Amino acid sequence: MTKKVDPLAQQKPKVDVMQEKATPGGEGGGTNGEVPGEIVPLPSKGKLYETDHPLYGEDSVQIKRMSNKEENILHSRALIRKGLVVNELIKSCLLNKSIDPDGLLIGDKSAILTAVRITGLGKDYLTKTTSPCCEEVFNHTFDLSKCQIKELAEDPIKTGENLFEFTLPQSGAKVKFKLLTAGDESDISATQEARRKAIKKQAPNASEVDTNITDRLMKSIVSYDGERDKFKIAKHVMEMRSPDSRAIRSYIRRIEPDLNMVEEVECPQCGDVEKHNIPMGIEFLWPEL
Ligand SMILES: [Zn+2]
Repeated sequence: MTKKVDPLAQQKPKVDVMQEKATPGGEGGGTNGEVPGEIVPLPSKGKLYETDHPLYGEDSVQIKRMSNKEENILHSRALIRKGLVVNELIKSCLLNKSIDPDGLLIGDKSAILTAVRITGLGKDYLTKTTSPCCEEVFNHTFDLSKCQIKELAEDPIKTGENLFEFTLPQSGAKVKFKLLTAGDESDISATQEARRKAIKKQAPNASEVDTNITDRLMKSIVSYDGERDKFKIAKHVMEMRSPDSRAIRSYIRRIEPDLNMVEEVECPQCGDVEKHNIPMGIEFLWPEL
């Protein structure tokens, strides 16, 4: 992997959190033009990045507001076709050019993307949502500026290393695992897509099995009772008992830093107020479509 290092990136101004406790993409009224960007708090607080990573120990990152340059990225057919829009958009807005979007933890990437979106397209996000009570599908405007950060809930074994330990309650096996990065997640999707195509070719009528749970655990677990061989870990994952699988997945969900993309919405059918996961629709970046 080749990484270009921008000498300017070294001059990153130190952020005073006490002074600038900004919510993702706070509107910053009136200061437009004077302030080069916004400060985005990182759900991970930089605790899981390696010591030589630009975000190691950083609890926030600076972005610039979206401009015409980023509009060009949003409307580039080539980038859309290759699925590169989000990464290019993030890269373009991060002031520190040595940060690779694929190396970001999933929650940090969501926080940055949402903040970037707010600077360019506003906090109001109109999209379709479904009420869990009546399964009514309707349009709703979510307020992205209200999304709360869910901080990393457990310290890693060592700061500067994305590694945690968990003992499976039934088998008693000691598992070491990492929290997935955006790059890990796209690797998983690519593998699943390739597998789907291969199966379709061989057996066009075979029913699809969702392998998301095992695929994610295989990517996450780096050692199983001391065993570090990828194939042996995969075998352990396939044979993992259900209560153990549930326990480790719920532990990962509990500790994982993220941006809580959740809002309470009233059901137009029955009036119940329910929590909705904010759906990631095309309107998130292309509201005009
Ligand atoms: Zn309802």
